[in-house]
Amino acid sequence: MSRFRRWTVLLTAVALLAGCASTQQSSPPRSPSSSQSSSEQAPPAPAPQSLQPDRPLPHAPTPDRGFEQAVANGTRTTTGRPGPNYWQQEAAYDLTARLHPDDKRLEGSGTITYTNHSPDALDRLHLELAQNVHKQGVVRNESQEITGGVTLERIALNGTVAERGATQGVGYAVRNTQLILFPPTPVPSGATVTIDVDWSFSIPQQGAGGRMGYDGDNLLFLAYWYPIMSVYDDVTGWMDDPFRGRAEFYSDFASYDLTIHAPESWIVQATGTLQNPGDVLTPETAQRRRQAVRSDTPVRILTPEQTGTVDAPSDTLTWRFAAEQVRDAAFHLSRNGYWEAARTAAGDRDGDGQVDSTQIHTFWRESAPKWAEVTKYQQHAITHLADYTGLPYPWPHMTAVEGGGIIGGGMEFPMMTIMGDYNNNSARMLYAVTAHELAHMWVPFMVNTNERRYSWMDEGTTSFNENVARGDYFDTSNAIASDRQDYVEFARSGREGPMMRWSDFHRSGAAFGVASYRKPATVYVALRGLLGEDTFNRAYQTFMDTWAYKHPYPSDFFNTIERVAGRDLDWFWYSWYYTTWTLDQAIDDVSVRGREVSVRVADRGQVPMPVRLTVTLANGETVSRTMPVDVWLQGRTSATTSVAVPSGSAVQRVEIDAEHVFPDVDRANNVWTRSESGASSR
Ligand SMILES: [Zn+2]
Repeated sequence: MSRFRRWTVLLTAVALLAGCASTQQSSPPRSPSSSQSSSEQAPPAPAPQSLQPDRPLPHAPTPDRGFEQAVANGTRTTTGRPGPNYWQQEAAYDLTARLHPDDKRLEGSGTITYTNHSPDALDRLHLELAQNVHKQGVVRNESQEITGGVTLERIALNGTVAERGATQGVGYAVRNTQLILFPPTPVPSGATVTIDVDWSFSIPQQGAGGRMGYDGDNLLFLAYWYPIMSVYDDVTGWMDDPFRGRAEFYSDFASYDLTIHAPESWIVQATGTLQNPGDVLTPETAQRRRQAVRSDTPVRILTPEQTGTVDAPSDTLTWRFAAEQVRDAAFHLSRNGYWEAARTAAGDRDGDGQVDSTQIHTFWRESAPKWAEVTKYQQHAITHLADYTGLPYPWPHMTAVEGGGIIGGGMEFPMMTIMGDYNNNSARMLYAVTAHELAHMWVPFMVNTNERRYSWMDEGTTSFNENVARGDYFDTSNAIASDRQDYVEFARSGREGPMMRWSDFHRSGAAFGVASYRKPATVYVALRGLLGEDTFNRAYQTFMDTWAYKHPYPSDFFNTIERVAGRDLDWFWYSWYYTTWTLDQAIDDVSVRGREVSVRVADRGQVPMPVRLTVTLANGETVSRTMPVDVWLQGRTSATTSVAVPSGSAVQRVEIDAEHVFPDVDRANNVWTRSESGASSR
């Protein structure tokens, strides 16, 4: 509750006084949209003017290469909706892994059934072998353990064995983390092919930049463990940028049948539903598991003293999992740890008006005592995010695995996450990483973005969702302010790279992290402030809903927000996403004549944003008004407005963006106050 009685004056007469002599020559403003937010007033009617601006002006963003062609082909549109000809490739994986925990080795075999829904005949098929980032001599942007990468024992296309480098029959090549198959004739549109592959690799201790691996004698976490089809889409064609260690992943939705052979006494959990609990779990363990996943409060299924698996005559157990509509599959093996589970509300999946639930599982070791709270954290995050995004959590479980020794932060996989022990961090930080990794189930695992190029789409949206969840879980959360502060400090250092820069191409150091996490999360808050919460939520949920189980590109995001908000926001996208311009609005002068306060604002930064002024009177009353962004889009860097205030109380303070929703890099010049002596200061 505010300490001050607020009243907002919405002036219909706009009293904008040009603050610089060049106004007459400045460019005409954009025509305002009919559904402009009521918090922002209509700009004055433009007079015909020539373009001699005082500042660089934002122009329309350049869509991704290929996007315009996709619009011409009818697979995309300029409204943010997929086009009538939108298509996506389809795959089904039937994979078997044999684990040798003592040797830290995985042997795999499998069949990939791949359907070409594109209109194109494919003269090559790309797959990714992410483990090759651990091979000697491959391109990398982070140092990695050298394990030798993937050994391909056999690969066959439609039953014909492929020969490395062959120009006849089926050939294949391996380049960095790419495996490229050359069919004897192009794979026609609509055709389905099968790829059989046998492979093996040595499991790195902190693999793929600390995203998988093993720790001690009781934990293995397997990810990037099989050849996965690269994405062939309507905008990029084959997405064959190598995995270099930093920028993340991009894959199509697929179904998975997993068979995992593991020594007895190890518990296995994977992306998908366990198909044969009776074959692998003791009856008591299976019984507690059934009880736990029907319970709203966490139930311990296993404690470190319990084994939980049945005796196998061969000492090896076979675990089977099945998953639908996921873009990857990971699994873990652990023993002598805690296994806890519960259920949580996951939104209304089938539209029958009833909230459905999903299972929450948590695995941790005695060495990570803070993890006793993680089941509750997961329950909150899944339930809250399903509600906030408007997209129900669609899968049968969500599992968090404690991975101290492998990872410090957290890494997401469909239905699975591995996170650090957090022994040296607060409970708040453990909640934060849990909410973050679980927020990734929405982006990129439902709203399937190209992380390798546009990490702001998944990490920025996820950081924003994480901050929203943190604000809901804790009475007080400084997550939004802290991201904004990190961004502002880095922006002031001059080392920033634009958000739209492809993720692997940032300058070393913090540039990737700021452009991928802090800045986009901060810009989401600014966008919400600009559009108003209702419009923002509608636009945001529409984007989620429209692009769930599809591949959105940046232009799809921009176009969806503009369509729902009913506004042209080119200036916003260009300034915040394509440049490293900063926002710095300053109060230049304040003069009070009777009931009228005249405020001159200098725009010292390059990002044009509306100016939100709050005038506070001595009696605590406040008057707010907004100078529209069009003032700056005309090319000015200074503008004056006058605000009418009630009589009877002196003007005490004038502030720009008193709500702190815009990331102004210098807030010291945002405030004017009447000093005791009657002189003003700012
Ligand atoms: Zn993330």
